[in-house]
Amino acid sequence: LEDQFRHAQKMEAIGRLAGGIAHDFNNILSIMNGYARIIEQELDGTGRLGQMSAEIHRAGERAARLTQQLLAFSRKQVSQPRIALVDDLLRDDETMLRRLVSDAVFLEMIPSAPDACIEIDPHRFSQVLLNLVVNARDAMAQGGTLTIRTTTNRRNVLVSVQDTGCGMPVEVKERLFEPFFTTKEEGKGTGLGLATAYGIVREAGGSIAVESAEGVGSVFTLSIPIARKTQPSDTASRKPDCPKGG
Ligand code: ADP
Repeated sequence: LEDQFRHAQKMEAIGRLAGGIAHDFNNILSIMNGYARIIEQELDGTGRLGQMSAEIHRAGERAARLTQQLLAFSRKQVSQPRIALVDDLLRDDETMLRRLVSDAVFLEMIPSAPDACIEIDPHRFSQVLLNLVVNARDAMAQGGTLTIRTTTNRRNVLVSVQDTGCGMPVEVKERLFEPFFTTKEEGKGTGLGLATAYGIVREAGGSIAVESAEGVGSVFTLSIPIARKTQPSDTASRKPDCPKGG
């Protein structure tokens, strides 16, 4: 518990720092990218200078994407949690998730937590799924099966994202949730995906467990408390989108 607390504190400090930098950088970048685009258009993207300005524009866009991820990680925007059926949240994201994976990956969605609600910002829940699915996809360069499943136990909703990919050695497993830790090549990974997911799930009162075997695959399991109805007798204030919640 002590360890978890220290980890949370470290995350928050890094998040605040990263968020501050990302915010200022974003403003600077939008000026640079704006002018780079104008120069590129003027030069029609041709000739030596035209190509250079196109390069500047591309690099600037990449930097802008990175700062966007930093902002998502530091979560400057306020959270808007609401109580929703976890299987509905999953179904809402299905199209987006299918678009992310390649044809070589067989994506299996198994929503098996009917009636179970969680209290979370739906955008942030999508962000977590997206980050886990991108990692699973990247771990299965040659293809494989990606299974997303929901279940419940007594207190929690469990959402598991399982891949039949490369798996990971202990050295990687130990550092997974560290901000900026990545084994992906330059420009492909930021090392913020799991740190962001961790922050979001913690915020919803949950945790993330990881099992992995090299050459076999990995499974990430989110455990998020089942959200109860506000008052057992108070039918008037029931959330309309979660009639049987709790
Ligand atoms: P990024 O994806 O930008 O590298 P993440 O925080 O999402 O950042 O992941 C950190 C690292 O954890 C990855 O670079 C990879 O080495 C490892 N990892 C995450 N998910 C998986 C997975 N499903 N299979 C194998 N390795 C993984």
